[in-house]
Order: sequence, then structure tokens, then C-alpha cells
Amino acid sequence: MPVPKPKAVKKVVSPEAKLAKLGLRTDMDLVLHLPMRYEDETQVVSIQEACLHGGESSQVEGLVVKNEITFKPRRQLLVHIADETGDLQLRFMNFYGSQVKQLAEGTRVRARGELKHGFFGAEMVHPTYKVVNEGAPLPTSLTPVYPSGEGLSQPILRRAINDAMKRIDWTDTLPAELRAEMSLSDFEPSVKLLHYPPQQVDEHALADRSHPAWVRMKFDELLAQQLSLKRAQRARRSKGAAALKSVGALSQAFQAALPFQLTGAQQRVLDEIRADLRHPYPMQRLLQGDVGSGKTVVSALAAAQAIDSGFQAALMAPTEILADQHFRKIAAWMEPLGVKVAWLTGSLKKKDKLAAYALIESGEAQLVIGTHALIQEGVQFAKLGLVIVDEQHRFGVGQRLTLRNKGNVDAVPHQLMMSATPIPRTLAMTYYADLEVSVIDELPPGRSPIVTRAIDQNRRDEVIERVYAAAQEGRQVYWVCPLIEESEALQLQTATDTHAMLADSLPGLVVGLVHGRMKTAEKQEVMDAFTAGQVHVLVATTVIEVGVDVPNASLMVIEHAERFGLSQLHQLRGRVGRGSAASVCLLLYQGPLGGVARQRLMTMRETTDGFEIARRDLEIRGPGEFLGARQSGQAMLRFADLETDGWLVDQARDVAQDLLHASTPDKAATVEAHLARWLGGKEEFLKV
Ligand code: ADP
Ligand code: MG
Repeated sequence: MPVPKPKAVKKVVSPEAKLAKLGLRTDMDLVLHLPMRYEDETQVVSIQEACLHGGESSQVEGLVVKNEITFKPRRQLLVHIADETGDLQLRFMNFYGSQVKQLAEGTRVRARGELKHGFFGAEMVHPTYKVVNEGAPLPTSLTPVYPSGEGLSQPILRRAINDAMKRIDWTDTLPAELRAEMSLSDFEPSVKLLHYPPQQVDEHALADRSHPAWVRMKFDELLAQQLSLKRAQRARRSKGAAALKSVGALSQAFQAALPFQLTGAQQRVLDEIRADLRHPYPMQRLLQGDVGSGKTVVSALAAAQAIDSGFQAALMAPTEILADQHFRKIAAWMEPLGVKVAWLTGSLKKKDKLAAYALIESGEAQLVIGTHALIQEGVQFAKLGLVIVDEQHRFGVGQRLTLRNKGNVDAVPHQLMMSATPIPRTLAMTYYADLEVSVIDELPPGRSPIVTRAIDQNRRDEVIERVYAAAQEGRQVYWVCPLIEESEALQLQTATDTHAMLADSLPGLVVGLVHGRMKTAEKQEVMDAFTAGQVHVLVATTVIEVGVDVPNASLMVIEHAERFGLSQLHQLRGRVGRGSAASVCLLLYQGPLGGVARQRLMTMRETTDGFEIARRDLEIRGPGEFLGARQSGQAMLRFADLETDGWLVDQARDVAQDLLHASTPDKAATVEAHLARWLGGKEEFLKV
């Protein structure tokens, strides 16, 4: 009998290593690895009965009467089983030699699967099955199916989890009064029920996680998160920071020299920041404001306060283009006032980099602006008082932590983070509970609203005419190339082709090109020319997505807009509408549009309000994706769902507050036990 040979020699990986890959290292990890669904193996029906319910999943038991491998239409194993009431074929398209032996004639098997009436009678295709002895007892509870990984079978996982359940300490971490008061189920029975639900359990409640056992898990998880965040907040407040007390000569001269007045909203958030900076413990503040609301100048004024107080400030931006723009703008504001501003990015020549390091380390550089290069090893600040992170959602948690640790003083620097991506309330409460939030809810005056239109790709010629007319009127245009996620090379090619095509169709106009693969100096040259008005049309990839600020640009064309996400479209569109000219954004799309893409383009047409767009984005995508993997604190919420469990978030927050406030030894013990159980060693991530 031909038996398939394994194609490649498999590396032997221990079950422990496979479990670790799923994040299951300790017994408690295993015990809290809960099933994603269940199979009902508690009942066996006769083959006849199963045949009556064709199309449904059922479990039958019978003896193997025939076992053959056929080759038509393809190689497959057919096993016929029979009981007193009838017979049935089990069909396996993929199988091992060992299975052929295991299912020899005369063997008794229990098979579970969907019964179909095929050409050759009743059959189950790829059933799950088990070889049993006659009279073997049926399980009395549902069989758990766990989230698993490669090479980790359900039986192995089940055994590991069962063993762990025998070893752990089941003591409830929540005191009985609290459980009673909150009507929470006890920990041990809840966990056990979720692993092995009794036959008569409400399966819907299990599936939608509204079952009291699930509620207990979710509450515990959220409570651990709140406790940990609140403790981090306390720890932060107990740390010393330099009190940046002086809003002095520089701050005043700078604000007076600005070519505009701060908006009311800018002044309000500036006051909030100024008050924070005076505290002797580190500020941790998120400055939110829609694209174009004027966050940069507020952060520069915060930097001025640090400098006035005799400390250094650092501003980190996620891209070179953006960092460069900040550097020029802020240096132009501050250098005339006698401030030494240093510039640091990865693309600097070694010599220049070392010179920058020296300026930073000696303290001669009062303000340092740059990219990720700021968190490289060689960088050491003399007296870092304030760290500013622009477009903070672009950075990982670890990166922000590194920058904060760059100070050479005993005190932790103050931290100001900026983002145009508003964070809905429940998210803010769970992921950013240790952040103060300031919001700029007003745009500078004189901006005219952006008109957005969606246009079918096949009307490209009309769009090109429009671009031509706009350029004739002295307006500048961005032409954004399609996003091609699968291939950077292809994306580059498209950008180059688009540039050639437009240069060809727009005689007499200067068409520039900027993309991520260009050398920094080249990129800068193009951006400079565009800023100076020497380039009429700038063909660009998404490198211009964040922050880029050229107020005279008032027309934007986005090709294949259907491929971009909502927040990306909003960021891109935010590049226009920065001056007083009425701006237009044309979203070229290729039909037919899918439901989600249509929704996105409609949203873009209907509103320019970043908060509203974020709200709809969250609706379309759900919080996990919304935050991005890097922001989600390593998927710290496994069980709770922020959309449906908002009420539990509120309760967990209140309980956490109570446990930490007016702490008695009892309460302190509860906190420790609960955090140990739920977070183990994972707390570090929350402290950023
Ligand atoms: P964002 O919040 O998106 O980072 P920017 O800080 O880049 O916005 O500001 C957008 C533009 O608005 C810049 O050209 C900036 O100089 C200008 N600006 C900022 N504040 C004001 C204001 N109060 N009045 C007029 N223009 C302003
Ligand atoms: Mg900005």
C-alpha cells in the first residue's frame, strides 16, 4: 500500500517552545488561554438518525467494515463504518499512513462531522474521529477548541491546559464583598466552566461572551489594566522632574515675533502645558488637534519654556521630510532670538552626526530636532527637560520610552506627544489612562473649507485639465500616487510613470517628483523647490502624508483613493486647505467600489472633521486595527471588547480607584495578587 512520504524533514520543536510562541509560558498563561469555541461530543446518534439530519453536524459510532485507498478522481482514503441502523463513508483527502493502519477493519470509531448525501450514499468528509472501545463513556461537557499555532494540536493544548489547571493556586483575587457587590461570578468556577462547559450551558451566551463566566474574565482583565495604568501614573508622579518654571524672555519674544496670533484653542492648551511643565513631576500630555490646527507652534512654545528654564528640549518626528520642515520653521523662529537649534537624522554624514552629538552632550544645543536618529545609542543629552514627539501614533511604545530615557539628569523629562488622530473615549481610558489630554478644537482663521469630490478614474483627462487650469492661476498641486502595498518596486515604478505622464500632458509646467526611495538631499531639494513655488505640480507617494506644510498648495489629486484607509486619506488631504485659497481634493477611484471603500470615500466627501472621521473609522475597522498593533500594548486586552464592554471599563476604573485610594493592607494585597495573576511580567509596557 503506497503511503505518502513527508516532503521535507521537519525540525523538531518541543511542545514548550510551541506553547511559548503562543505566549503560553506559565501555568496561569495556560489556564487563561480560553477556548474560542466548542464541539459537542456529548452525544452519539445512530447512523440512521444522522442521515435524517443531513447537512448538520453530528457524532456517530460504528465499526470499520471497509478501508480502501482509491485514486479516482484523486488519491483518497475511504473508510466505511456501520452500526445496527446503517452505514456511512468517511472520506479523507489528506491522510497519513498511520491513519490507514489506525482505521483498520474491525476498529470501533466515533466520527463527528457534517453528514452529506453524496453520489455513493451518506458520507462525512474529513470528520474528526476517535478510536474507542465499546462502551467508552461520552464526555459530559463540551469539548474546547483553543486558538492554536502551527504544529500544536488540540489534544496537546488540552492536556497542557488540564495539567496546568491542576497546579495553579485558585484563590480568588477579589474579596468576597467586592464580588457580591458587583454580582461577579467566582474565579475558579468561571474558568472551569469556560474550559469545560456543561452540556446544558447557554451556548449563545458563551459565543457572544455575555455569560457571567466571561463577564468575570473581562472584568478581571480590565481591572488589571486599570490598576496597572493607575499605578504607573502614581509612579510617574512620585518621580522627580525638573520644574520648568520660567516663561521668560525667549517665550515672550518668540510669541511676540510670530506672524500670527494664537487661536483661543492654542492659547488654552498652551496654558495647560505651561502649568504642567512647572510641576516637579513629569508631564505626560497628549496634544490632539486636527490636521492644520497648529500644533507645531504650541510645541515650540513649550520648548521655549524649557529653554527659558535652562534645560534642553528635543522634538522627534517620524519622517525626514517632516523633521526637516520642523527644523527649518522652528529654527527660523528661534535662531534670531539666539537659540541654538541642532539637527539630527540618520542620513547625516558621520562627521556631522558626531558634531551634533557633541552639541547635544555639551548642552550647547538647546533644542534638538530630528527623526528616530534621536534615540540612537550615541545620543546623550546634557540636561533634557522636555521631550516632544510629533505624530506620536507613528512611533512604537519602546521608541518613546527610549527618548524619555535620554536625559542625563536624575529627573525624568516632561513629555508632550502630538497626534492628529483623535482617540475615542473608551480607547483613551484603557490604553492611555496615564495621559492628560489637550485638544485644539479650532482651526486658525481664514482657512476656507476643502471641497472633496470622488471621480471615476476614466475621467482622468478632465482632472488633468483642471490641474493645468489651477496651475495657470498660480496655485500649486499635489498629485498623490496610488498605494501599492504588495510591492515597493511597483509603487516606485508607478510614481515614475505618473511623473512622466504628467510632465508630458502639462507642457510649460514644472512637475516634480518625491518618493521614499530618494536620497534625503534629493527629497529636500524637491520639497524646497515646491515650497518656494518653483514647482507647479508635485507628484508624490505617501511620504508627504504626515505634517508637510506648504500653504500655497490648494489642489490635491489622490489616485486610486479606494486603496487608502480613512485616516490616511484625511492626513493626505490635510496637506491642502492650509492657506486662504479655497482648496479642492479630488479622489480618483477605480470602480466598481466595494462596500467599505464606498463608505470611506463617502465619509471623505461628507466631512473634513478629523474627529468625526476617526469615529467612523473606528466603526468601520474596530479598535484593534484602529490603534495598530504597535499601539495596542501587545494586545493586552484579550477578552474584553471595547465596543461592547464600555460599561465594564467604567466599573473596572472605579474599582481600581477604590483599591488604590486610601489603601489598606488588605486592598494592597488584593492589588498585588490581581496584577500578578493577570499581568505577570508584562507590566512594563504600560509605563510609557
Ligand atoms: P498641525 O496641527 O497639523 O501640525 P501645523 O502646526 O503644521 O498644523 O500648522 C499648520 C499651519 O498653520 C502652519 O503653516 C502654521 O504656521 C499655521 N498656523 C499655526 N497657528 C496659526 C494661527 N494661530 N494663525 C494662523 N496660522 C497659524
Ligand atoms: Mg503637525
